[in-house]
Amino acid sequence: MPVFSFDNSYARLPDDLYMLQKPLAVKAPRLILLNRGLMADLGLHPESLAEDEWAGIFCGNSLPEGSCPLAMAYAGHQFGHFVPQLGDGRAILLGEVKDDKGKRWDIQLKGSGKTPFSRNGDGRAPLGAVLREYMISEALHAMGIPTTRSLAAVLTGEPVHRESVLPGAVLTRVAASHIRVGTFAGLAARDKVTALQILTDYTLERHFPHLDKQVPPHMGLLREVLKAQARLVAAWMHVGFIHGVMNTDNCAISGETIDFGPCAFMDAYSPARVFSSIDHHGRYAYGRQPGMAHWNLVRFAESLLPLMNEADIKTANAILASFPDYFQDCWLSGMGKKLGFRTRQPEDMALAQDLLGMMHANSVDFTIGFRSLCDLAESPQDSVFPGLFRDREAVQQWVQRWQHRLNREGGKERAASMRSVNPLYIPRNHRVEAALKAAEKEGDFSLFHSLLTVVSNPFEKKEGWEEYALAPAPEEVVHRTFCGT
Ligand code: AMP
Ligand code: MG
Ligand code: MG
Repeated sequence: MPVFSFDNSYARLPDDLYMLQKPLAVKAPRLILLNRGLMADLGLHPESLAEDEWAGIFCGNSLPEGSCPLAMAYAGHQFGHFVPQLGDGRAILLGEVKDDKGKRWDIQLKGSGKTPFSRNGDGRAPLGAVLREYMISEALHAMGIPTTRSLAAVLTGEPVHRESVLPGAVLTRVAASHIRVGTFAGLAARDKVTALQILTDYTLERHFPHLDKQVPPHMGLLREVLKAQARLVAAWMHVGFIHGVMNTDNCAISGETIDFGPCAFMDAYSPARVFSSIDHHGRYAYGRQPGMAHWNLVRFAESLLPLMNEADIKTANAILASFPDYFQDCWLSGMGKKLGFRTRQPEDMALAQDLLGMMHANSVDFTIGFRSLCDLAESPQDSVFPGLFRDREAVQQWVQRWQHRLNREGGKERAASMRSVNPLYIPRNHRVEAALKAAEKEGDFSLFHSLLTVVSNPFEKKEGWEEYALAPAPEEVVHRTFCGT
């Protein structure tokens, strides 16, 4: 029996979409992480191979039977500027597997050596970047937010040269697919209309098979991708997540979070918060994420233009124009859940915005602010919530409005339902940095493992985990995150 039951549907698509490329061997692979839960979901059996055999597969040294390794071709708008030829410069798609529900998943190595798209890059990834992606993607997943997953991490035994010399590693990424807005843009830019048509049909079948066949396929795809992006970005906003590099090559058609470079969860709430060291103008600041998703969707629609007639263009404009309202609807329904509401009432928007305004004015920690509101719903005298704000009178007034709103609605177990959407444990930047540093500098993975365990269980309070729920002390605050590529 082969280890993976690969099917390679992407490799059957027009060859404008990829270049066949094998991973390049590494010197001394050593397994760091194996995501056993995810392996089970994918029908893989961790115990069927020895650790060094898994390490060999997940670093790219041994190619599993049935794989068809390739580097995907795509373009992308990077910080607003179109780059026609990006592609996987250091990633290799091994193939696709189906889970027990018949859903198809890409298995991709990242950091597995140069490809025809590497340009000046070395095709490799430093350990810190691999661990960071592993940690944040698994944390988002645990919060119920669509994201690529991390299946394994392997040390290569080879150095990677960046500003300093770092240990190299390979991440195995699992995604509903790696098709991006930039995948379509790349074909459109090269006038590959037939391939664009085929990719459109393939993507619809793979991600949105339920779609009404009456609608022209490219219009149906635009509408579904728009909705998936709106839902995704709303979900990020609800947990204070800042992606950091929302370029169109990092915008997955599946609606999954993809590419974890300088991403971060914010501590003190501010719509203008930016962590990425390369985002000089705050293009991808927390509060600009919905607008940037909309911008990316307009680029997506442009990529589909070669398939559109006059009527389609009108339809496409109407679909694009629906983004702000649809996003607001997603945002407000998630905000309502965070605030403990079961229904939607006219005053909800003002309640949500007024709370955020106070949190901003008082630099309240986003996660602690909402989590302590859950406590307030349970026992008003025990919650630290009012004490988070300097202006006590303003917060008391807000709490009165909120309680009035809750009382009118009634219902039981409100605090429990609020706690199921307001995380207690997030991968706080200072802890992530400390864990990565210990791993990179000292080969000590203990901090990483502990933090991963905690953030994989974001909602349920656990004894002994108190420190993980704390905001950073002033001297611990991380102000900048780096791509670390
Ligand atoms: P990103 O900013 O991570 O989305 O990456 C943008 C592009 O740079 C993609 O085409 C990547 O494949 C490529 N890239 C990033 N790092 C490397 C590297 N070390 N070697 C080759 N290509 C890379
Ligand atoms: Mg990318
Ligand atoms: Mg990246």
